[in-house]
Amino acid sequence: MAEKRDYYEVLGVSRDASDDEIKKAFRKLSKKYHPDLNKAPDAEAKFKEVNEAYEALSDPQKRAAYDQYGHAGMDGFNGAGAGAGAGGAGFGDFGGFDDIFSSFFGGGSAQRQQPNAPRQGNDLQYRMDLDFKEAIFGKTTTISYNREATCETCNGSGAAPGTSPVTCHKCHGTGYIEADRRTPLGVMRTREVCDVCGGTGKEIKEKCPTCHGTGHTAQRHSVKVNVPAGVDDGQQMRLQGQGEAGTNGGPYGDLYVVFRVKSSKDFNREGTEIYSDMPISFVQAALGDEINVDTVYGPVKLKIPAGTQTDTSFRLRGKGAPSLNGGNTGDQHVRVHIVTPKSLNSSQKEALAAFMKASGETVKPQEGGLFNKIKDSLKGDR
Ligand SMILES: [Zn+2]
Ligand SMILES: [Zn+2]
Repeated sequence: MAEKRDYYEVLGVSRDASDDEIKKAFRKLSKKYHPDLNKAPDAEAKFKEVNEAYEALSDPQKRAAYDQYGHAGMDGFNGAGAGAGAGGAGFGDFGGFDDIFSSFFGGGSAQRQQPNAPRQGNDLQYRMDLDFKEAIFGKTTTISYNREATCETCNGSGAAPGTSPVTCHKCHGTGYIEADRRTPLGVMRTREVCDVCGGTGKEIKEKCPTCHGTGHTAQRHSVKVNVPAGVDDGQQMRLQGQGEAGTNGGPYGDLYVVFRVKSSKDFNREGTEIYSDMPISFVQAALGDEINVDTVYGPVKLKIPAGTQTDTSFRLRGKGAPSLNGGNTGDQHVRVHIVTPKSLNSSQKEALAAFMKASGETVKPQEGGLFNKIKDSLKGDR
């Protein structure tokens, strides 16, 4: 393992930096190195490093230990339920992070300095499948899923109705037990989560009959989701407080709805732009025509100018996908390709022969027949 960098150095703050300065530095750096925003190969490692430094320096006790013993001073904390990396919990779980929807950095980081502190519940992820057009137009729908909810009988305390949890006799309510531990640097005071109360700091003498003391019950939860028009495959939306119940009176976690958009046989989409193919006959291409083209908004007329070449793209303004951040709706790009007829009746053949004659080309019927000769000659003209 590479030599660990100094935590103050990682955050770019001085050793006497205030809590506020540390927090500010962390916010700035975690945003800068967030692996979903920063595609540099070392971004993730930097992001982890920043999280680890903040984890240590934002906790007064850990900071004191670090100041005194350096990285060795951190050993007593790791694995003691201090929740290494809790500040970045859940960051790595989501693909397609999208700034429009998510605001990971809005609420500050959930630190777990004290095991008995209120803790936010887990975030949940819900995958929503959308048809191609549903993603373009958005929709309102209700989704249902299982989650841990606050027990209604005990209001989350875990104690039977009419009773209250009491302060834990072992840890006296702190949620942790301190113990002296020998390290190469001398005796270190370490903290471990209390085994009697599991870190809540409270003991339940008479358990709630509904939740058996956990304070949580399994719940089939329904929530209305407004899918915004123009959402794209892989994007996600955060629904605050729709995750799992918190502990010790902490708030609910959030729900992340991740969108999976089905492909369409008629259209391809890239961002707000839609692409489609349209076959036309060489007569339409040569003489020009007005054709009907399907868009997600219904059929529209498209003028094909005389002399159009195969693979020419035409733009239908405003027939693409709406923009999520209030920009212009995209366009549809129609690429025409010229279809060569596979079989011709005799009057069509005569007409083509006459066409060739008029073009000054000689028609010499030979092996393979006249039509093949015509086809070859047309190909050569492209
Ligand atoms: Zn209960
Ligand atoms: Zn305890």
